[in-house]
Amino acid sequence: MQTIRGFRDILPKHIPLWQKVEKEATCLFEAFGFKEIRIPILEKTELFARSIGEVTDIVEKEMYTFPDRKGDKLTLRPEATASIVRSYIQHKMYATDPVRKFFMIGPMFRRERPQKGRYRQFYQIDAEIFGVESAYIDSQLIYLLNELFKRLGLSGLSAHINSLGCPKCRPSFQKALLDFLESKKSRLCDNCTRRMDKNPLRILDCKVLDCKEAIADAPATLDCLCKECEDHFNTVKATLEKQGVDFIVDKSLVRGLDYYTRTAWEIQTTTLGAQSAVAGGGRYDGLVKELGGPQTPAIGFAIGFDRLVEVMEQIDKAPEEKPLDLFIVSLGDTAMEKGYLWSCKLNQAGIRTEMDFRGKSMKALMKRANKLNTQYVLIAGENELTENTIILRNMNTKEQVSLSLETLIPELIKILKK
Ligand code: AMP
Repeated sequence: MQTIRGFRDILPKHIPLWQKVEKEATCLFEAFGFKEIRIPILEKTELFARSIGEVTDIVEKEMYTFPDRKGDKLTLRPEATASIVRSYIQHKMYATDPVRKFFMIGPMFRRERPQKGRYRQFYQIDAEIFGVESAYIDSQLIYLLNELFKRLGLSGLSAHINSLGCPKCRPSFQKALLDFLESKKSRLCDNCTRRMDKNPLRILDCKVLDCKEAIADAPATLDCLCKECEDHFNTVKATLEKQGVDFIVDKSLVRGLDYYTRTAWEIQTTTLGAQSAVAGGGRYDGLVKELGGPQTPAIGFAIGFDRLVEVMEQIDKAPEEKPLDLFIVSLGDTAMEKGYLWSCKLNQAGIRTEMDFRGKSMKALMKRANKLNTQYVLIAGENELTENTIILRNMNTKEQVSLSLETLIPELIKILKK
């Protein structure tokens, strides 16, 4: 049996880097006032269709959607924002305090064409802020991402930022875009031609090379911003400059989801080939209302956890595995039982202890102790047990001490906890 295409195991040798990222991210989120939220993996399909947009790649082509036994249409979450917004509304969080900051880490599912850096089950680290309209919050999220990547020792990343405008400036942009697209219609792929009426903004996100070339000079949202959106974007840029965060204004950045308004960004790397986006985010000031809540400004980002680890693996070896504290060499049945009982007590005291239950010879057990890279070996044979003394050998210095059976565990804890 094999994993499904696009799904993969993350094996123990890769886990230390994942844990390093989780630890740094959680620590930073807490310092910035975020609270962890855990949301279901399965939601009603309608939630994603309405928030991400019916006419988007994710909803049209990539979602894992199926009817459950009663015929309800369900979808494995392709992203976290929609569910977090649902939760914010469902639990009326706005009523007690509209300002909320959440983070979550977990798997997402999209049926994309698998390749390096693109999986059908992938992981995201997600952060969302509700109830703050100020542009400082946009800068703060980009600053936070920058800080996290710095702490993880990453370089060569660049923040691409853009403004997608708001419902006030969208109509004039859409008109300019439609006029432009009309003149290029013959060069667009079938998908884009179909999307012209329904969702022309998505054409700017098309990956087909011919389309990309045809729309190279398309009007940009940035050139059609209303005064408020322009001021907002200027504050974001000025603040990032003051905070020393490098960024590139990228007029062509539109992101693949419909709910974005105003600031949108992507953190890109040059080291992952085609899959260059390590994180993406933006404002979605209309989504809470759209999904049935009160008008609430909101903003968030998602880091591609798998890609982030892949970038780290290029520069950073996984943190070295900690050596074992103690290996118990148990020779004979009585020693096996005693060794087992001691090992549990030591494990309980936080001392990494292993033994071998196969009844192997002294030589074989010492070989195993070396393989496990242990600091100490405790040698328990029948003789030692009858004489009431046990030998503890320091594998680095080769020094040996005799310990009394009666006080063995507290003595070991004292020595090994040093
Ligand atoms: P999005 O939700 O599309 O804005 O994606 C946010 C981030 O998630 C991207 O910048 C990628 O790093 C990551 N990501 C999105 N789709 C995939 C995928 N299929 N496989 C791995 N990472 C992904």
